[in-house]
Amino acid sequence: MADDPLTNEEFKPEELDLEVTLRPATLDDFVGQSQVKENLKVFIDAAIGRRESLDHILLFGPPGLGKTTLANIIAKKMEATIHQVSGPVLERAGDLAGILTNLEKGDVLFIDEIHRIPHVVEEYLYSAMEDFSIEIMIDKGPHARSVKMQIPHFTLIGATTRSGLLTAPLRSRFGIVERLNYYDDEALATIVKRSAKILEIEIDHAGAREIAGRARGTPRIANRLLRRVRDYAQVKAGGMITPDVADQGLKMLGVDKEGLDPMDKRILEYILKDCRGGPVGVNSLAVGVGEDSETIEEIYEPYLIQRGFLKRTALGRIATERAYQHFQMTPPAADQQLF
Ligand code: ADP
Repeated sequence: MADDPLTNEEFKPEELDLEVTLRPATLDDFVGQSQVKENLKVFIDAAIGRRESLDHILLFGPPGLGKTTLANIIAKKMEATIHQVSGPVLERAGDLAGILTNLEKGDVLFIDEIHRIPHVVEEYLYSAMEDFSIEIMIDKGPHARSVKMQIPHFTLIGATTRSGLLTAPLRSRFGIVERLNYYDDEALATIVKRSAKILEIEIDHAGAREIAGRARGTPRIANRLLRRVRDYAQVKAGGMITPDVADQGLKMLGVDKEGLDPMDKRILEYILKDCRGGPVGVNSLAVGVGEDSETIEEIYEPYLIQRGFLKRTALGRIATERAYQHFQMTPPAADQQLF
């Protein structure tokens, strides 16, 4: 894992508390993603109207965009109890059976990182999702036999950063599939101002925009940057966050105007300098920059691609013209390029 905590998923316990404090509790408080919200409102109202539990929902998109937040909002709106578990924790079918048999009618089961549940557990989930039944083994040895057991109607909400890694049978069992996209700067500025109000931080709109523009389209990062800039503002600028203060504070954190953090820069510089612009495979890239390949694919690459710094080709990752410009470098002459 990277040593830089700004972008990375790893965070300290006190940051977890903060996430909970800043998490919007209703769809109206949930900024942006208007299409997703509108769709969910319709599905929720329809289910409430029919007094049924909601169809299973798959939420996908990069980390920190609000999947967990939405799952909690949905459960609240359905007046349902939410049970939360992370995919990798479900090692055996028995782990899942334990959870499923403890659900009550209408409950929401939120499985984060659902693409990481082992295959045997996943198969177990199929019948639970489809006919609300599971097979459990009773007895041992020669007397072992499986019995079918009904479980209460529940709603599964799965969250994944990698929808491509989900198997087709699992994906097809979700009635509702919603994709969360990166937020635009205005939406992020609204989130920054909302968080500032909750945390009693003084900030003006332009200051919020300055932070928003460098938060990689991600509310979690915007909130994190806000807190770090607050420290800077407190010590160096009398507490108020203006664009200038935000700019200086963010520079000190190594976050540049494009929102690239030290690891983004390391990735791009490695491709530009060590690989002469690429192409380079993700595994070599991972070794080159000292980060694991999954984190690169899941966290860093999507943003670099979205901002036009990086391209994925069949041969590997290549740096774009924009990346050369950003680092004030000139692309090598055609005969100097590796490919
Ligand atoms: P994910 O589950 O997609 O990784 P989370 O739901 O944990 O992301 O969101 C991370 C944090 O970002 C939340 O604690 C919340 O404070 C903030 N956040 C996410 N989406 C929004 C939003 N649409 N409006 C306001 N804050 C948000």
